[in-house]
Amino acid sequence: MRKKYIVIITLVLLLLFAAFSCQSGRDTGNAGKKSIVVTYSILGSLVKDLVGDEATVTVSIPNGLDPHEWEPSAKDIETINKADLVIENGLGLEGGMEKTLQSARDNGVKFFTASDYITVRHVGIGEGIPSGDPDQAVGAADPHIWTDPLTMKSVVSALAPVLMQDLGLDVTNQAAKLETQLDNLNTEVMNTVAQIPLSDRKLVTGHESMGYFAQRYGFKLVGVIVPSLSSQAEVSAADLAALKQAVIDNQVKAIFTELGTSPVVAKAIGDETGAEVVELTTHSLPTDGSYFTFMTNLATVITAALK
Ligand SMILES: [Zn+2]
Repeated sequence: MRKKYIVIITLVLLLLFAAFSCQSGRDTGNAGKKSIVVTYSILGSLVKDLVGDEATVTVSIPNGLDPHEWEPSAKDIETINKADLVIENGLGLEGGMEKTLQSARDNGVKFFTASDYITVRHVGIGEGIPSGDPDQAVGAADPHIWTDPLTMKSVVSALAPVLMQDLGLDVTNQAAKLETQLDNLNTEVMNTVAQIPLSDRKLVTGHESMGYFAQRYGFKLVGVIVPSLSSQAEVSAADLAALKQAVIDNQVKAIFTELGTSPVVAKAIGDETGAEVVELTTHSLPTDGSYFTFMTNLATVITAALK
């Protein structure tokens, strides 16, 4: 009996030793790797696809939380300041992180701002419901760049040489592969939404987050429940009345709620206009963490609601 115990204890000790060795092995592996911090999960997913195991990629804003609102903790701030490269969206998306990012920049941390390398979309005339909110004013820059795969392809193409120059990472092959995949994704989304008649390609969303998608795939932006590019704004009675009228006038089949949309307001609009209320995931990744699944879901949900 006692022998058996000794054998078990020895095995447990060996396992512990093995686990400890693996752990320290992994730490040593990371120590040599460059560290990249990406502000939000959707951009982070593509950065991970591009970088693979060549560097450690940390996402600041936890997936599922509102990137417009999230504020970093002391530990998050430390991670950002220690990064070899910080990759941000820009155009005011990371509202709650702005001070932290600026101070890291001032401390000499290297930055890559994705929206510096794309054709920025601006709020157009007659788009959404005018509310006097500066975010919604004609000409305001739209930060929701990830809703168009070809816009994200521009980001990937611009990031690859920066990774080489700033971090010495050669991701040429991964970049070429990812660019092809994003082209294919664009074709896939185009084929999916082709089931929606052109006259029904009308979007009403929680806030104005689908502009790049609308521009790429021929949708009209009829209005938004929260009249702003940011989900932080509040809805007024006049905006709401104007939106209901726009839904009726445009014969909009469905309205889409997002992270931060008031379900009560959405239901009221749905009840009064006859439009179906559909939940749309626009600011967070699906469980598999893939940008490709994210975009496919977006196209599928919109198509099912409007076709
Ligand atoms: Zn948003």
